[in-house]
Amino acid sequence: MSTKNRPIQALPDQLISQIAAGEVIERPAAVVKELLENAIDAGATQITIRLEQGGIKRISVTDNGRGIPKEQLGLALQRHATSKVASLPDIENVTTLGFRGEALASIASVSQLTLTSRTADEQHAWQINNMANESGIEPASGPVGTSVDVRDLYSRTPARRKFLKSEQTEYGHCQETVRRIALSRPDVSFVLSHNNKQTAQWGVNESAQRSAQILGNDFANARLPLEQIAGDESNGLRLSGFIGLPTAARGRADSQYFYVNGRFVRDKLLTHAVRAAYQDVLYGDRYPSYVLHLNLNPALVDVNVHPSKTEVRFRDSRSVHQFVFNTINRALAQTNVEALSPASTTQAPRSGALPWISAQRQAPLGIAQKPADYGQFFAEAANAGTHHINETATTQEQHPLGYALAQLHDIYVLAQNEAGLVLVDMHAAHERILYEQMKQALESRDMPVQQLLIPITLNADPVEVGAVEENQAMLHSLGFDVSALSPETLAVRTLPAPLKHADAETVMRDILRELQEVGSSRIVTEKHHALLGTMACHSAVRAGRKLTHTEMNALLRQMEITERANQCNHGRPTWVQLAASDLDLLFQRGQ
Ligand code: ADP
Ligand code: MG
Repeated sequence: MSTKNRPIQALPDQLISQIAAGEVIERPAAVVKELLENAIDAGATQITIRLEQGGIKRISVTDNGRGIPKEQLGLALQRHATSKVASLPDIENVTTLGFRGEALASIASVSQLTLTSRTADEQHAWQINNMANESGIEPASGPVGTSVDVRDLYSRTPARRKFLKSEQTEYGHCQETVRRIALSRPDVSFVLSHNNKQTAQWGVNESAQRSAQILGNDFANARLPLEQIAGDESNGLRLSGFIGLPTAARGRADSQYFYVNGRFVRDKLLTHAVRAAYQDVLYGDRYPSYVLHLNLNPALVDVNVHPSKTEVRFRDSRSVHQFVFNTINRALAQTNVEALSPASTTQAPRSGALPWISAQRQAPLGIAQKPADYGQFFAEAANAGTHHINETATTQEQHPLGYALAQLHDIYVLAQNEAGLVLVDMHAAHERILYEQMKQALESRDMPVQQLLIPITLNADPVEVGAVEENQAMLHSLGFDVSALSPETLAVRTLPAPLKHADAETVMRDILRELQEVGSSRIVTEKHHALLGTMACHSAVRAGRKLTHTEMNALLRQMEITERANQCNHGRPTWVQLAASDLDLLFQRGQ
């Protein structure tokens, strides 16, 4: 019979569930998610997850939650049967993770499912499986709580089973699902095993410890705690958690955890807000790590946008974006010298016992580069630059980074402050300052330019010429007047003033490369920032140059007034504090 001639028919329940299963549980990890969410909704404090063959063979989740009464066991497996909402207003104010009442039915429609449960009122547990009918409820043994055992996933829908990846891949997805939920609920203990081997175990803990366990030491050692509240109870927003410092950034976006009212989400708006907040300290292919919780009145957010509920819709998305952006941006900006002064507890670079050892030098040693005249910058920089080392005693309090003592290997500036010794990577620090200065100039649209007496011409390929033409306006706003003289020649007539001493051709080549790398897909501001970074790197004082005391002090004063001064544009530290007590320890004084 061709489809044209078929009469309209209501689909059988089983088929409806199988269709829904395609959406809700596209792979074993999705089953794990649904079962864990049910356990958490049931108030469990201990959850055990057993997987076999990546979850394809078996997924079993056991919890110590409130259990399901015997007479409701059959209902639990039925489609659109839920204890969590009963009316539309309930959905709008939902505080449980589940509410659609379709997970167990969907899973049962594509697997062999056994549900065992016992409430506190019952003498023993009861069990039902989807192969039996409703009368097939049998007594079973077991403590209060629920255990769901899912076997041979998709064995009844072989077409779907073909889409599954290798056992290891599916296991990886399951593991990630468990991490996500475990991160959001440090007050619940989790045990995970795969093929009868325990692979993770997290006891009840504080969120700081749980996130350190799950995201690892790189994160634990370089993160800022965050807690910001705006507005009142009915329309307020609260953002809390931990944001990784740029030094904890990764090459992949695999340590990013955002929760809205306890639910893990992957939301474009939120991801964008976080990304934008990190823009000044991180760009290109580095990804920040974070564990963030946004809490708000459930009536102000719709979680029922997608069956798997990983996307949300905010009533007032603009203010949510702004709030998230501002909170993180401010927190990152405060990692400047003030925030890191000895009294502060958020001193980022001082985590290990000998933290300065890990401080990385940014410029290669003795790089052969035309020495530029930085004297003027440093002279213009800060009037404090005229102070001399001898004045330290009285003014040190106003100068957290203290006063320059000497230069080490023409790379580091050594300074003395109240706490002890300060070590500055002069290139990295200067680069950061220039970046912020140029960024400000760009934002207020007054990038100073340097007219070149004789235009510089350089050979270019058609792609480069195209990139220049495509980005003419932006290059102009950055202070470059560059245009095509011929299909293979570019002429540069002005440079941004901060680059006036740099080698124009090298700068231009780098900018061209950068333009091609960032491509036209990136949003303009992101490009700007990448280009500013390249420019700052070119104009910053190179390792290998001798600085006078006046110049060194000017650099310190500039660092103190520059936002985000404690990290260079590549996310590495620009300075480290060596407390006098650390030095005492090193020499075992007073022990
Ligand atoms: P939903 O979670 O959307 O309500 P489910 O199909 O996942 O739908 O579950 C149906 C119902 O079964 C739930 O509303 C809940 O009452 C009950 N249930 C499921 N899992 C558990 C569990 N682990 N502990 C207690 N009750 C559960
Ligand atoms: Mg559920």
